[in-house]
Amino acid sequence: MPASRFPPRGCPRPGRDDGGRPGATPRPKKSLGQNFCIDPRLGEEVLARLSPASGDEIWELGPGPGALTRLLVETGATVRAFEIDERWRSELETRFGERATFHWGDFLELDPAPLVPAGGGFLACGNLPYYCATPMIRRLIDLARPPDRLVFVVQEEVARKAVALPDSAAYGFLSAQLQLRAEVKMGSIFPPSSFRPAPKVSSAILELRPLTLPPDEFRRRQRALWLLSAMLRQRRKMAVNLLRQALPHQPWEAIFEQVGLSRGCRGETIPFATLLAMVDAVPETGWPHALRVPGPSGSP
Ligand code: SAM
Repeated sequence: MPASRFPPRGCPRPGRDDGGRPGATPRPKKSLGQNFCIDPRLGEEVLARLSPASGDEIWELGPGPGALTRLLVETGATVRAFEIDERWRSELETRFGERATFHWGDFLELDPAPLVPAGGGFLACGNLPYYCATPMIRRLIDLARPPDRLVFVVQEEVARKAVALPDSAAYGFLSAQLQLRAEVKMGSIFPPSSFRPAPKVSSAILELRPLTLPPDEFRRRQRALWLLSAMLRQRRKMAVNLLRQALPHQPWEAIFEQVGLSRGCRGETIPFATLLAMVDAVPETGWPHALRVPGPSGSP
């Protein structure tokens, strides 16, 4: 689906929610990132990208008054929604009954692992609160079994960072963290007027399809991220010097030459393939314990 920039839509009358029932929506809380979606094209694109099948399990982060939840439930999927604001509790639980399960509280405080379905399609979506969108995404992508597809509404700037390639202005740790673990696409951009109250900045759809990585490849990419985080710690310093501090016993200048990097290069310019080649140049014993292959049980 090509990315597009949608023109602003007119605001609906105040005091009405997505279903047009007067006064059903409590006053939005800025502290919880409550900018409710009022443009139906947004939900339509989330659903089209998610493309759920009947019987899939969909997790929705931050259902708020339930506009997107309604679309999800209508697909015949099993919906599990996580919402911190209990002012919608009786409204949502009554409205959706057994068709959706709600978890009330801070999603970032909850251990989602025991809730992951053992089999079948597993999807995740949400119009995420700006203040904690990236930790929410990380929490899902870090699951031992992450969702098959994740489609979120985030700040346009976050979506641009997520898809940015090395050596571009928007590139940073988030770009590598997501792209080394998933296929990442940016969808349409929605202006502030697509939400009520209107936020200060535009939003965009972000789609992630986690890669199926064998354990060795997963560990290799974790190591690449570890190296990158060391190299991005002080952006003005040369990558080779930062790596010398992080892993002092490795011949970093020789490794840079081996993988075709100049001695003066900076971490944010290193392509992913080169980053992975640097990982391969460090022997197993050269890594901190947390990044090593676990030995047989009982070994140190
Ligand atoms: N889905 C609704 C929509 O599109 O209109 C609401 C989206 S609003 C941008 C973000 C939602 O996330 C709010 O309902 C807010 O209460 C909820 N939220 C904020 N922080 C949260 C957290 N830590 N855990 C779970 N939900 C949270």
